[in-house]
Amino acid sequence: MTADTPAYDPGNIFAKILRGEIPAQTVYEDADTLAFMDVMPQGEGHTLVIPKAPARGLLDADPASLAAVTATLQRVGRAVKAAFDADGLTVFQYNEPAGGQTVFHLHFHIVPRREGVPLKRHEGGMADPEVLAKHAARIRAALEA
Ligand code: AMP
Repeated sequence: MTADTPAYDPGNIFAKILRGEIPAQTVYEDADTLAFMDVMPQGEGHTLVIPKAPARGLLDADPASLAAVTATLQRVGRAVKAAFDADGLTVFQYNEPAGGQTVFHLHFHIVPRREGVPLKRHEGGMADPEVLAKHAARIRAALEA
């Protein structure tokens, strides 16, 4: 905890994914980071990248962990862009409820973008798990290409 950040709560849903207590459509994993599909995508291919080390948000994260997440963001971002033949990518990250955060384990969003196609609403609706599985497979294939 830092002076202006509440303590990390290990009961959060991404901590449960990291412990294998709930499933996720994983696209990439290494010693320090995990990337998986967002269950309420704001666009086709919406992917989340998280550090394995506990951190509530950007402000209390360890710099080494942030560096690992940044490397994974670039690696997975390239694959997401290729997998969805996107024109661009939007990457975003929220801190604390006032900043729009709803899950209190640091995460970065990657959304592939097409010219003229707006982002869907944040937490708009659950995606079909079979569709998410197919999208995850496309990204994994792009990572291996
Ligand atoms: P935020 O904290 O505002 O950045 O939003 C949390 C994000 O996590 C939202 O985009 C949710 O759709 C997503 N999310 C919530 N629960 C899960 C889950 N179990 N697996 C994957 N994504 C999730």
